[in-house]
Amino acid sequence: MKLGLKDKVAIVTGSGRGIGAVTARALAEEGAKVVITDIDPETTEATRAAFVADGYAAIGAVCDVTDETQVNALVARTIEEFGAVHILVNNAGFPRDNYITKMPEQDWDAVVGVILKGAYNCSRAVVPHFMEQNWGRVINISSRAYLGNPGQTNYAAAKAGIIGFTRALGMEQGRFNVTVNAIAPGFIATDMIEALPNYDRIKSRALAMNTVPRLGNERDIANGVVFLASDAAEYISGETLHITGGRYG
Ligand code: NDP
Repeated sequence: MKLGLKDKVAIVTGSGRGIGAVTARALAEEGAKVVITDIDPETTEATRAAFVADGYAAIGAVCDVTDETQVNALVARTIEEFGAVHILVNNAGFPRDNYITKMPEQDWDAVVGVILKGAYNCSRAVVPHFMEQNWGRVINISSRAYLGNPGQTNYAAAKAGIIGFTRALGMEQGRFNVTVNAIAPGFIATDMIEALPNYDRIKSRALAMNTVPRLGNERDIANGVVFLASDAAEYISGETLHITGGRYG
């Protein structure tokens, strides 16, 4: 199978740590030049430095995906330093769980903002370049939570919204050889998840519902991203790849 990622340039949002960092590394291992970008300067720089120390081509840039000006500057810098951009992974995102009666407006806005506005800002900044070079990949990190979880009206709405976004943008971009796909991870044992107050309950529930009897890890998601970014996936667009260990409910 030809992956064809050598010298492709990939921006992975929220890649200072967690799924984003492992995804950026997986793309780099396949030969892509990667842009590590996150809101936290320390994690951004630490991850970039680790990539460069391991011999990968990587730049680091602080960027809040909800800020259009920062996103445009990020894409301009990527093109200035790496000459092009080919792959965008819209990974930045977080939950702010609460029942709706207790959910403050800022938690609704923050979650919907980072996931949907972030994907809008980043996609809007890269797509003109993709169209011009007649090649591009947008990969959006959704969540199995798009099916709904109590306490996650904001997160479920945003993660379901990103699936509609994926289909619509895929329809717009197919004729430019640009594919747009989503990944819906199940329960992935990252810092974000381990910090949740009900972590133990979520973990045992996930293990009971998975058909593959283990928790997911960041590499499981990164492998899906690498495939969707590759030439091998050139005929797949508008899809949502569930990486859940076989869990659907
Ligand atoms: P992490 O919290 O480990 O990583 C998320 C990253 O996004 C952090 O580095 C965070 O920065 C960054 N970030 C937050 N806000 C912004 C912003 N406005 N602009 C740019 N970057 C930002 O989470 P995961 O790795 O677990 O999650 C990655 C993605 O996968 C998310 O979209 C999440 O919703 C999704 N997902 C995760 C699952 C899981 O089980 N872990 C399951 C399903 C989906 P900082 O470090 O400064 O906070």
